[in-house]
Amino acid sequence: MTEKKDYYEILGVDRNASEEEIKRAYRRLAKKYHPDLNKNDKVAEERFKEISEAYEVLSDPDKRANYDRFGHAGVDFGPGGFDWSKFTRYSDIEDIFGDLFKDLFGFGFGRGGRGGLFDDFFRTAGERYPERGRDIVYELEIELEEAAKGIEKEIEVRKDEICHDCKGTGASGGGLKTCPACGGTGQLKRIQRQGFAQFVSITTCPQCRGRGKVIENPCTTCNGMGKVGVKRRLSVRIPPGVDTGSRLRIPGEGEAGEWGGPPGDLYLIIRVKEHEIFRREGRDLYCDVPVRFAQVALGDEVEVPTIYGDKVKLRIPPGTQSGTTFRFRNLGMPDLKGHGRGSLMVRVNVVTPKKLSKRQKELLREFDREEEHSTRNSYHQPFWRRRKI
Ligand SMILES: [Zn+2]
Ligand SMILES: [Zn+2]
Repeated sequence: MTEKKDYYEILGVDRNASEEEIKRAYRRLAKKYHPDLNKNDKVAEERFKEISEAYEVLSDPDKRANYDRFGHAGVDFGPGGFDWSKFTRYSDIEDIFGDLFKDLFGFGFGRGGRGGLFDDFFRTAGERYPERGRDIVYELEIELEEAAKGIEKEIEVRKDEICHDCKGTGASGGGLKTCPACGGTGQLKRIQRQGFAQFVSITTCPQCRGRGKVIENPCTTCNGMGKVGVKRRLSVRIPPGVDTGSRLRIPGEGEAGEWGGPPGDLYLIIRVKEHEIFRREGRDLYCDVPVRFAQVALGDEVEVPTIYGDKVKLRIPPGTQSGTTFRFRNLGMPDLKGHGRGSLMVRVNVVTPKKLSKRQKELLREFDREEEHSTRNSYHQPFWRRRKI
């Protein structure tokens, strides 16, 4: 067995700290390491156990005196060792957590002590305290056209909903009855005498899982769970302008709540598929239009597709260089907040033909001889050595 740490060290107080100082130190550490605030964090849980144990001993004048005289040997928690779960249920802790609850929920205690909010908080999740249902995250893949125009989509979500047959109580007829094992308190108390003191160990009643009530006739639809797994078809509106990573919240369409708590929300995470023609950059769309040399040299008019379906005419002025980009305002993606649309950026790319007929070669050679002796274009510089074709 590893050497146990000193309780004063654990709480970070000095050996002659007052009760008030111990309480304050514990309150500060408990807020930090409480398991309900550090879900699935084993280290925090271990710390919480440690500080709870230290506080249990140092907050009790008799136990503290024994610890001061005999060290850990003076402290006896009984055969099972220190039961930290029961520890959180001692009523004198309630005032310590009073302000923790104010931080968390916006209100403190004052709801009838034993069996009040405090107990609910420290029971394992899913017991009596009305808890909001979990949120559901649903990834939805859409086309760029759909992102541009907005669309109504049917989706199917698997989730737990309140069982209609028992209205979430888990009982059919008869309802609930007081738990025979604990008489409705939700707790089992055991009193033991161990060495110096009398110990009261309180555990959650296993039969009713701390609820104090058990179901008389479990609902057969949900097997007493109060919830049933369903596949729910939903129609969702995707607004124009969404992008990959856009998150849409649909309130109340998450998992059902616990014990009368409200349902969670459904979050749609949008993924916009790559488009074969358009590339998106923020609100602007880019596309490349392949053109022939003669079209940019002589000027021409070409049709360009838009994301909205209709086509626009691009007028290529004579003498346009390959790679020139033309902007069409208002034909890009819409702004999600309704602030107009971006631009469609069209780049003309001159494509060099790979296969030429005999006639095309003759014409090109003739064209080039003409071009070689022309001085009209700027690339005729003295240092520009051109190979004879
Ligand atoms: Zn049911
Ligand atoms: Zn019970």
